[in-house]
Amino acid sequence: MEHKLNKAYPKHQTGRFRTIKNVTSVVLQLILFVTPWVNWGGRQMVLMDLPGRKLHLFGWTFWPQETHFMFLLLVMAGLTLFCVTSLLGRMWCGYACPQTLLSHSFIFVERLIEGDRHKRVKLDKSPWNADKLSKKVAKWSIWLGMSAYLGLTFAGYYTPIRALFADFISGSAQTGTLLVIGFFTGFSMLFFGFFRGRFCATMCPYARFQGAMFDRDTVMVNYDMVRGEPRGKAKDPNAGSCVDCNLCTQVCPQGIDIRNGVQFECINCAACIDACDSVMEKLDRPSGLIRYASEAEIEGDKTRLLRARPILYSVAILSVFTVFALLLSTRTPLEMDVVREAKGGAFSQSADGRVSNRYNVRLINKEAPDMTVQLSLEGFEDAELVAPVNPITVEAESSKVMQVFVLVDPKSVKPVHRFKITATDSNDPNTQKQIETTFLRGAK
Ligand code: SF4
Ligand code: SF4
Repeated sequence: MEHKLNKAYPKHQTGRFRTIKNVTSVVLQLILFVTPWVNWGGRQMVLMDLPGRKLHLFGWTFWPQETHFMFLLLVMAGLTLFCVTSLLGRMWCGYACPQTLLSHSFIFVERLIEGDRHKRVKLDKSPWNADKLSKKVAKWSIWLGMSAYLGLTFAGYYTPIRALFADFISGSAQTGTLLVIGFFTGFSMLFFGFFRGRFCATMCPYARFQGAMFDRDTVMVNYDMVRGEPRGKAKDPNAGSCVDCNLCTQVCPQGIDIRNGVQFECINCAACIDACDSVMEKLDRPSGLIRYASEAEIEGDKTRLLRARPILYSVAILSVFTVFALLLSTRTPLEMDVVREAKGGAFSQSADGRVSNRYNVRLINKEAPDMTVQLSLEGFEDAELVAPVNPITVEAESSKVMQVFVLVDPKSVKPVHRFKITATDSNDPNTQKQIETTFLRGAK
């Protein structure tokens, strides 16, 4: 068996699970490549605008003040992964993880140029000659092209992709942009061309802790030891179903032998199931010696789908989703921060006897179009708001900061008086943001 740090040479294997995997791979890679090109409401549908510190997602623009949305999305994604893992093992790794799917695309190119498993092993062991050199140059050149395209695509999630491509093709891209593309190109080459399954076996944190989510009823790729052992020749009447042909290990992209039991390197890709089923078919024996099954099923019991762990995960996902949906439905495009000045000049008395406090107000228009924002006070019998401009225009997706003064007759307020500042969009009075703050009266 190949060591997990050595390069694996998976033999090509067709079968029903390979077909499912090919279909999901094409669909998911299409989503990866097409998404940054899709516009929504006149701008890129998914864009992490790092210089602008904004996230554009399906027509919404999230500001740094709204990181709780990202946090809730990540928690939901994590809980969903945990729930699927507790029910179906590492289904994510085998059928949806970019590391697996993109590595397979790179292996596909390798197989086209260097041949299937035994030819690749032979080529790597052979001394360098013109044939080996030409094949290696061809493979790495195509991989470089694929990596560069991946690099551009990944960078396109952070920089507007249309301008990025135009600059890259015309050679007018700035050094910083080229560095970002170069980083992602090198990253793709290293992770999908070189590391491949070694990443899953040695670096992926999920591979390490997924065991904590498994139980006796988790369905995963299993070898039926009861039926398969003892291994032996097909004609041996005392042998089990496994004829020890080793095809299951030869097709494994992780270079492991599933007959040794569940291993953390296994990504549940089911290539060994397809391989073993093809052997069983040739021997005219029932398929499923290696199959998706729970430990309970292998031991002759029934698999319980309804059990505490997935139910708890489902309840947690639903709860987080409810909070997310509530927050999203009450989200307004207008945001405001108010900070009372604490240093010199924060408190002063005017000639007419009124006292004033100074506040820094930050208004954010999170979406398009421009807003005309009117500031007003609530919680005083008689007070005046003095601002440089009121109402003030806040352009789409931008913010404005200004200092305002609140002037009050000291007889009408408590020493520490709570009140509210309200910002209202004059074009849409339903768009409002209210902040409660304090007014310090000072000594009478
Ligand atoms: S492919 Fe099936 S029969 Fe062949 S070694 Fe693996 S488990 Fe045994
Ligand atoms: S043991 Fe089977 S399911 Fe696991 S990685 Fe290898 S081929 Fe895929």
